[in-house]
Amino acid sequence: MKIMTQKVVDAVEDMRCDVCGVSTSGGGERPPQFGELRAEWGYGSRHDGERYEVHLCEGCFFSALATLKEERRACRMFDENEQDGETAEFGLVVSG
Ligand SMILES: [Zn+2]
Repeated sequence: MKIMTQKVVDAVEDMRCDVCGVSTSGGGERPPQFGELRAEWGYGSRHDGERYEVHLCEGCFFSALATLKEERRACRMFDENEQDGETAEFGLVVSG
């Protein structure tokens, strides 16, 4: 026997960019498209017990990625084993 009831369920309607505040779903016209910066720091880290989630629109995501690429380039400037191609594909796992 089925005993039916109605439940209220929370669903993500939109995701706003944590940097610029723009809607990542075009105001609800399509599923949210966003990038995430996440961290959960544990024992032995300086931020033990802290958890971070930053949601980024496409523009802010690639702006952050460009900044990280620049930082990586600066950190490895004198690394003889560094290859230019690695920086171009930094973070890219699957290409569309
Ligand atoms: Zn943004």
